[in-house]
Amino acid sequence: MAGKKPFLKVQCSVCKTTNYFTKKSKKVGEKKLELKKFCSTCRKHSVHKEGKK
Ligand SMILES: [Zn+2]
Repeated sequence: MAGKKPFLKVQCSVCKTTNYFTKKSKKVGEKKLELKKFCSTCRKHSVHKEGKK
């Protein structure tokens, strides 16, 4: 029971490809993640957001 840490998909907001995974910490529960990362599909840096399950 203890130590269950859900993994989040991090998707490119442009092409919706899942490029990264991240661990969701307890305290950041409500806030939507937004990261600027390199997308290999778009071949550029784009905004990545937390994906839906
Ligand atoms: Zn992309």
